[in-house]
Amino acid sequence: MAELYLDGEWQDPVAGGRREIRCPADGSLVATLSEGTRADTERAISAARRAFDNGPWPRTPERERGALLTRAADLMVRDTAEYARAEALDTGKRLVEAELDIDDVVRCLRHYAGIAGTDAGRVIDTGVADAISAVVHEPVGVCGLITPWNYPLLQVSWKVAPALVAGNTFILKPSELTPSTAVLLMRTLAEAGLPPGVANLVLGTGAEVGAPLSEHPDVDLVSFTGGLETGRQIMASAARTIKKVALELGGKNPNIIFADADFDAAVDHALTAVFLHSGQVCSAGARLVVQEELHDRFVDEVVRRAKGIRLGGPFDEQAETGTLISRAHLDKVAAYVEGGLAEGAVLRCGGTRDTEGDLAKGFFYRPTVLDDCLTTMRVVQEESFGPVLTVERFTDEADAVRIANDTTFGLAGAVWTQDGGKAQRVAALLRHGTIWINDYHPYVPQAEWGGFKQSGVGRELGQAGLQEYRETKHIWQNVRPRAEHWFHA
Ligand code: NAD
Repeated sequence: MAELYLDGEWQDPVAGGRREIRCPADGSLVATLSEGTRADTERAISAARRAFDNGPWPRTPERERGALLTRAADLMVRDTAEYARAEALDTGKRLVEAELDIDDVVRCLRHYAGIAGTDAGRVIDTGVADAISAVVHEPVGVCGLITPWNYPLLQVSWKVAPALVAGNTFILKPSELTPSTAVLLMRTLAEAGLPPGVANLVLGTGAEVGAPLSEHPDVDLVSFTGGLETGRQIMASAARTIKKVALELGGKNPNIIFADADFDAAVDHALTAVFLHSGQVCSAGARLVVQEELHDRFVDEVVRRAKGIRLGGPFDEQAETGTLISRAHLDKVAAYVEGGLAEGAVLRCGGTRDTEGDLAKGFFYRPTVLDDCLTTMRVVQEESFGPVLTVERFTDEADAVRIANDTTFGLAGAVWTQDGGKAQRVAALLRHGTIWINDYHPYVPQAEWGGFKQSGVGRELGQAGLQEYRETKHIWQNVRPRAEHWFHA
């Protein structure tokens, strides 16, 4: 079977490439899927361009576009088991987590379906007689959507849902490591009645499929979620055609614990903040910033519980978290830990692979706590994207804010205290796009998501997440035109 979806048809790649997808939890073969190249990407861009310039979708009323998303969400609910299984096998994450991800995808589709048609723009009071002036929204055009492997379909949905509601056409390029659910999504959108050419899917590598999307003059917007270095390359190549660029990049997110925090809740959430999905979460609370007087008791308890975390594959019901995505990623995480130790961090637990029994077939890395870290260390500053918690100490409120903002990233952070005023003061000063107070990780599609500083450009979700996919046009009409003779001749 062919898995490139171009102009409403399943097609083989021009060069006939295939790629084996293997489950990182045990190396088993999940699927062998089509692998496209630059030539396929160009075919997809042409199809999306034609569908945008000549097709019905951009001119379909927004409410109807929203209704199609509702149908797609209903179909996804019907097929949840198939979606979740595919996601779990590609990523190696636990099936229960994959099921939660698919629920979140459905929520995202329903959110954008729900706000479709609720904002038609505005009529302006110009102060000028005989003039009618309106500011309206229009779709941006052809969108290149490039996504990572950690939450494959969820990251796709944050782009596809607003792009469709706004009336765009797109080419989707999922991570080459986790493409299966993107294939299912094309099937669902077709079944929901999306016209040909609106949604196009090209599987393949960043160099062959991703790069042309950021370079091609017929692509109007590129929306990317992934690593910082790739984001830089995309922004640079998009500059040549002044494309609109939306970037959701990495984070190195501080979790600030004041001495007056609710101890049990703060310890519990500190663990999920960083060890959920083995730390492969852009908003992972990988920097524990804890007040001096609470440090010993708090870190002892985090370490005690981290040592007990059970790792396992997608269908292991005893497992609490899973594998890393690949051998290369495992090596990268291990190198960050070794670098931290060389710079003087103290290893409190973890720091090794877990190779017990069947785990030896995967890329499991033990939850790791590095104590006595300094803000200047690489392991504190850079994103390891693994189950690695660094611990820094602070003295007072100002010190906590200074440490938490001492990063080039700015995606998310949390503050734990029972003093409501202090929580709000700190939240106001943190230069991060999401702040949790006495919580970690929850998000809703109604609220914007994105980064300050080098964590990105623009926002996904919420109203702003729809605005990314819209152009704004001002239409002025003179209802009583007459000559004004500015020039006398
Ligand atoms: P990555 O940058 O390696 O790859 C992301 C995507 O970009 C993949 O589809 C890849 O094939 C493609 N790509 C690679 N090179 C390209 C190029 N030159 N041009 C165009 N596309 C190219 O990232 P990853 O390892 O897949 O994902 C992990 C990263 O994603 C982490 O840094 C994480 O923080 C980030 N992330 C951010 C968010 C967020 O919301 N801010 C969410 C999830 C993940």
